[in-house]
Amino acid sequence: MAYIAMARKWRPNSFQDMVGQEHIAKTLQNAIEGGRLHHAFLFTGTRGVGKTTSARILARTLNCMGSNPLSPCGVCASCKDISGGNPMDVLEIDAASNTGVDNIRELLERVQYAPMIGKYKVFIIDEVHMLSNGAFNALLKTLEEPPSHVIFIFATTEVNKVPQTILSRVQRFDFKRLTTNQIIDRLKYICDQEKITTDVEALGIFAEKADGSMRDALTYFDQAYAFTGNDLTANSVRSILGIPPNELYFMLIHAFAVHDIKECFEMVDKACSIGVEFSPLLDGFGKFLRNLLYSRLDSVTAEELNITPELFGQLKKTASELSNGDLLRLSKILTELQSKLHHTSNPRLLVETTFARMAWLDHMTDLRRALAAINDYPDASNEALKKKVTEVTTSLDSVQNTPSTASWESSSTPQYSRYEISSAWNTICRQLSDDHDLLFTAALSGTSLLTPDLKATPFPVTIQFKTEDKNENNWSYKQFLTNTEFQERLVRILEDYLQTTVELKVAQRLLSESEIQIEAKKKRTPYEKDLEDEKIFTILNQLFDTELVFSRKIPKNFSKTECDSNYCD
Ligand SMILES: [Zn+2]
Repeated sequence: MAYIAMARKWRPNSFQDMVGQEHIAKTLQNAIEGGRLHHAFLFTGTRGVGKTTSARILARTLNCMGSNPLSPCGVCASCKDISGGNPMDVLEIDAASNTGVDNIRELLERVQYAPMIGKYKVFIIDEVHMLSNGAFNALLKTLEEPPSHVIFIFATTEVNKVPQTILSRVQRFDFKRLTTNQIIDRLKYICDQEKITTDVEALGIFAEKADGSMRDALTYFDQAYAFTGNDLTANSVRSILGIPPNELYFMLIHAFAVHDIKECFEMVDKACSIGVEFSPLLDGFGKFLRNLLYSRLDSVTAEELNITPELFGQLKKTASELSNGDLLRLSKILTELQSKLHHTSNPRLLVETTFARMAWLDHMTDLRRALAAINDYPDASNEALKKKVTEVTTSLDSVQNTPSTASWESSSTPQYSRYEISSAWNTICRQLSDDHDLLFTAALSGTSLLTPDLKATPFPVTIQFKTEDKNENNWSYKQFLTNTEFQERLVRILEDYLQTTVELKVAQRLLSESEIQIEAKKKRTPYEKDLEDEKIFTILNQLFDTELVFSRKIPKNFSKTECDSNYCD
């Protein structure tokens, strides 16, 4: 016997069979019972949720000659005609391939003829938003005054593209996406009927991948069933559909939580060994992070997230290892990674290094929780400290209502992990130069950052100045030694970027002979070369032992009154 696709075989035949759209079935049945039937309907909703199926059920119900006005009998002449290939009283067109005004005129010519078997002539127009403006206009007149034997049913996935003139003349029904549990229940019912052995976890995979569409769920089901036959397990379903198992993501999140780079690499290795591609791996991780974030909210249920209660429980437990801020930062880095993935010749290296970067991120601490910890500290007898804590907590309360947002807010500064702060230092210095504090940023120029122990807290960071002689002659270095305010400011900046406490050291390093030669060879801008040739510059150099730290063009209309106090008195 030829195999009939499940999606076709188990297509609902009556309103009773419709899954997830009970609100629509009820309203339509009430209208039929009360004799208050509209002549034009618009069924809107995402793909695969039963819009055209419902249109056919409605056509069948209205025309059935059986005794139950709410459920087609399936055996009368009309029911048989409609379930056959080319029904006489139901005309179905796909607007996606019949967009023009002529297609609609052709259809409307048939409106005047009475139905052949049943009571109504039913016109179903699928993807109605695809019609041209001319086609919509041609429809309008008939839609205003249709013959009493005519019913129009429009279906669309994009109701916003349907003109208002049409919308105001139809009765609109919004189809819901199906929940995971609704899809699972329906698949379970079909498996029972078909005597197929499976488990809820396997069915849950179809349901999650289908993302609210019953038709897609059945298509995936068919695909897996064709490979595995009568024995559908979660693992076989995952491997057939190329879906990374959730354990991989739990493994990854754990690696991030404990800063374990090795575990990140093992996760990538595992994903590759079972044949998971990077793109679905990252898509799945995005979905996983989203579910983690949502699982932290008390008001969210497993059903709302379209996941099984078991998975929801696991997510809730795992989410407690990280803060909202951590999860948001991970999501941000993941989005960047996804956009870069298609442009790299070595996706594995990109994924691995990005995961390593994620693993080295310091955890963000909720400021409110930190303050509460100070309050709970046994020696917190200092009244002034207590007063300060209360003050800050109160001001936090007035700004943010939810406890977790304090850390969400602080995630607006771009952040780096301890692992990458040294390599990001030049970029940070460039960003700081926009602060208009020329002395501070000039003092930072030419520095580098050393990070000896990546795991120590507070995080030890050394800002290093290179110099050519032993006499501590470096201007920038001297600035930093004399201005403790500079040091404090730098600590604040680094702590902002790193989201952790920082211990700063200021150091000078003597350049070797070869380094000095390299430095000398470093190219200056043409403007700076000119400046070095200037006689006045040479004289200044001799008199004050100066060096060119930076140069800036002075605008033509520059006047002393506008001058920054860092330049002039
Ligand atoms: Zn019938």
